[in-house]
Amino acid sequence: MRHPRIAIGGFQHETNTICPMPTVWEDFQTPGAWPAQTNGEAIFDTFAGANIPIAGFIEAGRAAGADLVPILWTAAEPAGIVRRDAFDRITGELVAGIAAAGTLDAVYLDLHGAMVADGYDDAEAEILARVRAAVGPDLPVAVSLDLHGNLSRAFFERASCAAIYRTYPHLDMAGTGARTYRLLDRLLMRGRPFERAWRQLDYLIPLTAQATTHPPCDTLYAMLPGLEGPGVASVDLAIGFPPADVPDTGASVFAYGEDRAAVEGAADAVLSALLAAEGDFRDPLLPASEAVAEAMRFSRDGAGPVVIADPQDNPGAGGVGDSTGLLRALLDAGARNAALSMLWDPAAAGAAHAAGEGVEVAVSLGGSHPDSGGPSVPVRATVERLSDGVFDFTGPVYGGSTARTGPSACLRIGESLRVVVGSVRCQNADRAMFTAFGIDPAAEAILAVKSTVHFFGDYAPLARAVLFAKAPGANPCPIGDIPYTRLRPGMRLGPGGPPFGAG
Ligand SMILES: [Zn+2]
Repeated sequence: MRHPRIAIGGFQHETNTICPMPTVWEDFQTPGAWPAQTNGEAIFDTFAGANIPIAGFIEAGRAAGADLVPILWTAAEPAGIVRRDAFDRITGELVAGIAAAGTLDAVYLDLHGAMVADGYDDAEAEILARVRAAVGPDLPVAVSLDLHGNLSRAFFERASCAAIYRTYPHLDMAGTGARTYRLLDRLLMRGRPFERAWRQLDYLIPLTAQATTHPPCDTLYAMLPGLEGPGVASVDLAIGFPPADVPDTGASVFAYGEDRAAVEGAADAVLSALLAAEGDFRDPLLPASEAVAEAMRFSRDGAGPVVIADPQDNPGAGGVGDSTGLLRALLDAGARNAALSMLWDPAAAGAAHAAGEGVEVAVSLGGSHPDSGGPSVPVRATVERLSDGVFDFTGPVYGGSTARTGPSACLRIGESLRVVVGSVRCQNADRAMFTAFGIDPAAEAILAVKSTVHFFGDYAPLARAVLFAKAPGANPCPIGDIPYTRLRPGMRLGPGGPPFGAG
């Protein structure tokens, strides 16, 4: 097929069912680290050059001469379950746009894979059901997915093919969109459905052990391209998003191609490698006070910052973003030349803007959900820098996108502890989360970042050491700390862990 006509759209959300804040329609209309809802032709300009799957799909499709029909794309910062009215409204617009697009050769969807909506444990499977109701059972529907998908058999059966990010930090989001185009092109050339295989793993893998920069995920993901070739078009691995209490939480393997036995064999090879790697996953979390003490020991020698991640309050994984655990530990230890970004606190940011730069303010930082994130921390702080929160990301994960953190400020507590506060929740996966507020990250002794793994992409080259603090938050990382009630029978709680429901 020389110039296929393809409707394209995207609807991404990573749902943390533990997060106390539901995700509402307005969240999909508010830009943060990524653009807000974008409709029709504006998609071409808005996403050009961004590390976002639909951008890569557009670039590859246009280069190949495809006729792309953009419908809508939207995403919201990870948080709690997506409200039914938001899910129905956005899915309805997407499906209506596809239905109105005229004769199509295919549909491409940029989905996440871990969306949970009211009444839909696997929301992506429901999106595909509604798309299928509009386009019929036979039209090729290609999907790109985040590496953190929790996918069900229903999803697998409704998608014609799927490609999944192969890096965490996600450096290849646009690349996965381009790969999805090539996979779809191969499917269209074939002219009938791929042979397909799908496997689910029987143990959960903590987010903090999933980095593809470290063993064992480095070798697990590195093996995927080698399994592809004649007869096998693609083999991919979704490693799962644990803070979601739904039956299909966990890792799954997807394989597509023309040779049935080879496709099944490739899926089995990945599953076998996952089972063989079970003893190799490591949990790097330290109590926050220990992480700060260790960072202060390191920093006596000078020479570059120690980065302390606060993964359990990462807003990029459904943490609220205003947990005070790590801030409290920095204050208690009297940490100097330390900077924390970003604490989500619209009230403190508003107080800073009302006071003005150079003025001392009394504010109570964070703690809007004290049960999951600790109490707020009253401080006196000097307003060092005000910002409208609009700045360009420069690192390898978000680079090419513009941040919109709303009214934001850099506050200095005491001599040299700086806290960046913002009005829109945003993970710190990019040095611009400091530099935009007048902080030179290379000059600090300690950098505290609310992120799980994505920060590695931009901070690892700068950091003399990286530590992971265990502070309160709505993204509990040890699998045993997650209050599951609905996992499927037989699922085990972490590498080497007991079966769900045992004892
Ligand atoms: Zn992800």
